[in-house]
Amino acid sequence: MTTGTCRACGATLKHTFADLGLSPLANAYVPLAKAREGEMVFPLHAHVCETCFLVQLEEFETPENIFSDYAYFSGFSTSWLHHAEDYVATMTQRFGLGPDKKVVEVASNDGYLLQYFVKRGIPVLGVEPAANVAKVAVERGVPTEVAFFGEATALRLVAEGHAADLTAANNVLAHVPDILDFTAGFKVLLKPDGVGTFEFPHLLRMVEQKQFDTIYHEHFSYLSLKVVAEILGKTDLRVFDVEEWPTHGGSLRVFFCHDAAAHQATSSVERILAEERAGGLSELAGYTRFAEEVVAIKCATLKALIALREEGKVVVAYGAAAKGNTFLNYCGIGPELVRAVADRSPHKQGTLLPGVRIPVVSPEEMLAMKPDYLLILPWNLKDEVAGQMVEIRAWGGKFITAIPKLSVF
Ligand SMILES: [Zn+2]
Repeated sequence: MTTGTCRACGATLKHTFADLGLSPLANAYVPLAKAREGEMVFPLHAHVCETCFLVQLEEFETPENIFSDYAYFSGFSTSWLHHAEDYVATMTQRFGLGPDKKVVEVASNDGYLLQYFVKRGIPVLGVEPAANVAKVAVERGVPTEVAFFGEATALRLVAEGHAADLTAANNVLAHVPDILDFTAGFKVLLKPDGVGTFEFPHLLRMVEQKQFDTIYHEHFSYLSLKVVAEILGKTDLRVFDVEEWPTHGGSLRVFFCHDAAAHQATSSVERILAEERAGGLSELAGYTRFAEEVVAIKCATLKALIALREEGKVVVAYGAAAKGNTFLNYCGIGPELVRAVADRSPHKQGTLLPGVRIPVVSPEEMLAMKPDYLLILPWNLKDEVAGQMVEIRAWGGKFITAIPKLSVF
């Protein structure tokens, strides 16, 4: 077996963080018409670098264009739009943004965030690789360039007069294959006193809560503050503030600037770095024990589901999404253990989950099966789902979550 190298520091990757075996791409739902065809599967193996502690997926070979089929579903959740609007209000006030400033967002999607700067009369530019999505942003009045972001793109944008007072990049850092070229782009793009922000799921929460099901193929890096600060440091950028947010099971919003900029470091930076050290993130053992915890969750879940099957209970699941697909494929749970997965999305109903081939049904069809147990796959929404599906209590039905540990309630 060939060994990969770390995408941040180039060291050889020798240590497993989580080996989830072979898995199909998370959103490759199988239409019934294709049920008799095969599926592509790829290794889903996260490593930790023993030198810089970046947790990352090993490079794997895919056929050309496997990620090019970008399905655009307009409309973010109300809570996510509130999060964006709040970001705009806070940044505008804190950094004194106005008509003479420029905000650039990388992976700006359909302009859902930048639209709030536009409403305040603050000049913006979106950078978005998917042309169909960028078109939606332009139509709603958010100037958007179709480009992949990196140093070369940043040089071009600055030459065209787009040097930035503020840059935003939310939930994209983990998804870029060349993380060094990506962060180097911000060194070029930011004005001397400009501020950059990144939001990403916090590795510390993933480790504490054993959220291994957030590992999927398009998610290349799993990030701590320590690692992000070191990667930024490679291009003479420094972190001066950090905030914790509950989004995606626990996220960080990191603020950074040029080394020479005037922004004063807040005490939050050292506080969160200390929390990461206390959580074991500055030693290899803190990462490698995760691999064992993942196996323990698989064993406990299978034991419980096999026992329920032997008792003749009806078990179904809720939430046909990336998390559930990772979890069910890794555990090897098919329709023999979980009869169906309910999901509200009409695009998914009537299909089969990739790999494990469990039928996706509407919540109404699922309730008609009178399940004895409902396995809630999106553990971050367990209270919400249990509230919406409370009807199963009428016949004595119960809920199950498997992460961070098996729980029946
Ligand atoms: Zn490394």
